Amino acid sequence: MKVKTLICNCKGLDPFRYADMNSLAFDIESELDVSYATVHPQLCAESGNKVLEDVLRAAEDDPDTYVMTCACAEETQMKLFKKTLRSTDFDSTHFVPLDIRNATNDGILDRIRERLMELTDPNKPRH
Ligand code: SF4
Repeated sequence: MKVKTLICNCKGLDPFRYADMNSLAFDIESELDVSYATVHPQLCAESGNKVLEDVLRAAEDDPDTYVMTCACAEETQMKLFKKTLRSTDFDSTHFVPLDIRNATNDGILDRIRERLMELTDPNKPRH
């Protein structure tokens, strides 16, 4: 399993102020088993959607790849990214939105770690 991690800083708005976005990608790559982590200032803006589309397209034929977007509420992300997801042939079950609001880098790492464990053990129920 390969996991590509896209982190959104939501224009530095309040729920994201606890994280250090300058060190978060490095922390994720150092601590967790991911292919890479990168930060975008606003993933749901036009340029952010283009980046997401490029990442999804690059993995269209790779059944081992998951794309994790670390941003706002998971339901919100599904709405925001639905069109981009549908514009590609990427397996939507491998698209993994994760809520990272109101968390420090350590808290975000814990949330990603937990989600990765759920992905490797699909029998583990989400909570
Ligand atoms: S994807 Fe969510 S967290 Fe990112 S800029 Fe848009 S609303 Fe904010």
